[in-house]
Amino acid sequence: MDELFITGKKILEKLQEEGFQAYFVGGCVRDYQMGRIINDVDITTNALPEEVETLFENTVDVGKEHGTVIVLIDDTPFEVTTFRVESEYTDHRRPDFVSFTEKLDGDLERRDFTMNAMAMDKEFRLIDPYAGLEAIRRKTISTVGRADERFDEDALRILRAVRFKAQLDFEIDEATLLAMKRHAGNLRYIAVERSLVELKKTYDADYTEEIKPLMIQTGVKDNLPFLREVDDNNFMSTNAFSFISETALQVYMNESLLKYIPDLKLSNLEKHTIREMVEVLQDLEYDKQVKAISYKYNYDTLENVEALVAGNRFSKKLSWRRKLDEAMEMQPLLPIQKISDIDIGGKELMLHFGQNGGRWIREIYSVLEYEILFNELQNEKTKILEWIDVHVEFEEGNI
Ligand code: ATP
Ligand code: MG
Repeated sequence: MDELFITGKKILEKLQEEGFQAYFVGGCVRDYQMGRIINDVDITTNALPEEVETLFENTVDVGKEHGTVIVLIDDTPFEVTTFRVESEYTDHRRPDFVSFTEKLDGDLERRDFTMNAMAMDKEFRLIDPYAGLEAIRRKTISTVGRADERFDEDALRILRAVRFKAQLDFEIDEATLLAMKRHAGNLRYIAVERSLVELKKTYDADYTEEIKPLMIQTGVKDNLPFLREVDDNNFMSTNAFSFISETALQVYMNESLLKYIPDLKLSNLEKHTIREMVEVLQDLEYDKQVKAISYKYNYDTLENVEALVAGNRFSKKLSWRRKLDEAMEMQPLLPIQKISDIDIGGKELMLHFGQNGGRWIREIYSVLEYEILFNELQNEKTKILEWIDVHVEFEEGNI
């Protein structure tokens, strides 16, 4: 038994001792029934968020108005959510308001797919009013209730269907599939950050190749802000890395998205790559000199941005591609590749000026870097010292 369930069971027991109903619910039940690895264990209960908070020592309010409190047990977070039903959805993405209910069944009914609408009690007995287990057995993704209604309420579910297919290698049942097609247009109402999270999971899944034609046929691809501009052929050849570049593109177009990057659970390298690609795009936009771009970024970064620009409809696509190509070609010809290539050491500078080390050294290096790259100062010790003697002067310990 997974450690998460053993700890989660303690939460269920505690809630029940206090007279509440409590169950495991959602993805963890699905994954448990399928014998898959459990990522996180969610709990549903008729206890109100305030009651959950008083019962457990360590809690975090992550959306009490929506019924969710995180209970921390030995630093492991468990989402505990009050049974709820959802009202009208007028904006295709969020219920107008949520109301709490006393019945588990009402809570299961609001969930997206039958395989996700199952609960288990603390003895691991299954509660499965929508035949989720049967759907798992038949490897089928079906909405709870009428697909048209469910996708009309919340278009993100369309993307979630795609994501689950990519992760589980299931088929989407026909009614669900047809409804996806009919409502794909509503994906444009979905906040970019919510769809990015689903898309990231899709790209990281084991069966990503299978869902690409589906995304094109259903119109999902063309209704996602970050894929709309991507040519179908390019899209077919996208890989997990493309997600990173598409995210960079989104952030470049809308910097406020930066604050959602942590939600994507990216590696440090992925985060760094996004940041750097955004910077290249900004440098292109501000028309920074090709030589400066060539010097500042490594070849791979420039190549990645070139692929991104090539696959998207940028207004300055041609001139940007030309610049990037030039920058890549120029790299081996630059007089220096990095600051440490400058032909004079810190110690030599200190000796030359008879000064102790300090910030001035970094300042001199950055001036030298500029002179060597842009003003044809030769990268040779004697020439550098000559230049320094003419151009650098010390005043009260500063240059
Ligand atoms: P994962 O293993 O990736 O976490 P999951 O099924 O747990 O998959 P979550 O996004 O964590 O997915 O959501 C938890 C549960 O909440 C789902 O299993 C589903 O029951 C419900 N749910 C999540 N998003 C929606 C939605 N947009 N509409 C309806 N129900 C949803
Ligand atoms: Mg989950």
